[in-house]
Order: sequence, then structure tokens, then C-alpha cells
Amino acid sequence: MSDGRYRRVLLKISGEALMGDRDYGLDPQVVDRVADEVRAVIAMGVEVCLVIGGGNIFRGISAAATGMERATADYMGMLATVMNSLAVQNALEKVGVQTRVQSAIPMASVCEPYIRRRAVRHMEKGRVVIFAAGTGNPFFTTDTAAALRASEMGCDALLKGTKVDGVYSADPKKHQDATRYDRLSYLQVLSQDLQVMDASAISLARENRIPILVFSIHTDGAFAEVMAGRGKFTIIT
Ligand code: UDP
Repeated sequence: MSDGRYRRVLLKISGEALMGDRDYGLDPQVVDRVADEVRAVIAMGVEVCLVIGGGNIFRGISAAATGMERATADYMGMLATVMNSLAVQNALEKVGVQTRVQSAIPMASVCEPYIRRRAVRHMEKGRVVIFAAGTGNPFFTTDTAAALRASEMGCDALLKGTKVDGVYSADPKKHQDATRYDRLSYLQVLSQDLQVMDASAISLARENRIPILVFSIHTDGAFAEVMAGRGKFTIIT
């Protein structure tokens, strides 16, 4: 069971983390693994909500670089996050976890619209709420959406599930001498331009005093371990 350290948390997973070894789209095995990670934490009695990115399908800034209008490209990116959210919802329901998808862009025949108080109620009932379509606004990212929803939901922590087990001074896959941090301040992340989340997400978390925990979503059981205060992660406060 949860030791009470965390009552309610938001987990942000990038679209790329769901891609596995593929170049594009979703790897169903990875999606199923993520669902298992979330199920384990729900079983601990922690309330969980999710924000899923869309970079495995469509990234607005990349499309804008090839000539598409940025705002249009960003709306397409937000739609990509809805597809990923439905895939994660499907995987969670397969393992018996009740879920609701709430989209920042209303699409009534696909999922619920984002309604803050309703989302809170779902979580109180033990359902996992998946926040889709980012913030609903172009020129933002799902990192910012994660910090925004974590603030609105009154989460005790914002978790970022990545490919590595914390924040490093440089990409550890490219630089063998990169050092790993156990603890950082928001200002260190911003001033050293460490690649954790974008600056607006970090600032929002800082303003609302929500700790950010960075861990590897690809390590079995890591989400539950982090929730129990064990395992490897970097905490930003
Ligand atoms: N996006 C947006 N507003 C938001 C969130 C996302 O316009 O509030 C768009 C943006 O084009 C972005 C795409 O959705 O490139 C996918 O989101 P993101 O790049 O954050 O996904 P991730 O990198 O986490 O997979």
C-alpha cells in the first residue's frame, strides 16, 4: 500500500516513449507495459492521472519547419495525443483499470471534454483520468499541459517517465561521462538548460510547488518503486 507520501500524482509519458524501437507510431507491447506500471500504482491506493504526448505521430514544430502553418500543425499534434490517449485507455481497461479520457478539444463522440471537477471526481472513485489534446492551445507542449493539469488537480507530484533513470548533465546514451543527479532545484534545471521538460512546464511546477520526479518508464515496476520512495529517480524541488 502507499505509505501516504503521495495521494494523487500525474504521470507524463512522451509519445516517443510509447514507440519502443519503432520509428513511428505505437508499440502495443510498450503500451501494455505502461498500463501494468499504472495498474501497480493504482493498487497502492494512489490516485493517478496521465498526460500522453504525441511526438510519435505528429509534432507541430517539425511540420511547421517544412512549411505548414504552425497553429494548424499544432492542432494536428494535439489530435495525435488523443490517439495515444485512446490506446493507453484501451490497454488500461484490458488489465481491469477503470479510465476516462478527457480532451481539451471537445470531441463528444470519442471522449469526455475536459471538466476539472469531473476529473477530480473520477480520480476519487479510483479511475485513471487521461488528459488528451494537451492544453488545447497551439504553441504549447504536452509537458506544459502536464504541469497545468497537475496544478489544477492538486497533485502531490508530477512524474516524467523517460527512457533513462533520471536527469543527467548530458545525454547518457551519447556521453559516457555524463553525471546523473539525485536532486536538483527548478532554477538549476532552468539555468543549466537541462533537458527535463520545457521551461514553461518547469516554471509552472515551481510556482505551484509541485515536485517533478524523473524516472525510467522502461524499467519494470519503476513507477511503483518511485511512489514508495525507492528505486532510481531525480527529484526536482
Ligand atoms: N501540442 C500543442 N499544444 C499543447 C500540447 C501539444 O499544440 O498544449 C502539439 C504540438 O504540436 C506538439 C504535439 O502536439 O508538437 C505533440 O505534443 P508533444 O510534442 O508535447 O509530445 P511529446 O514530445 O511529449 O511526445
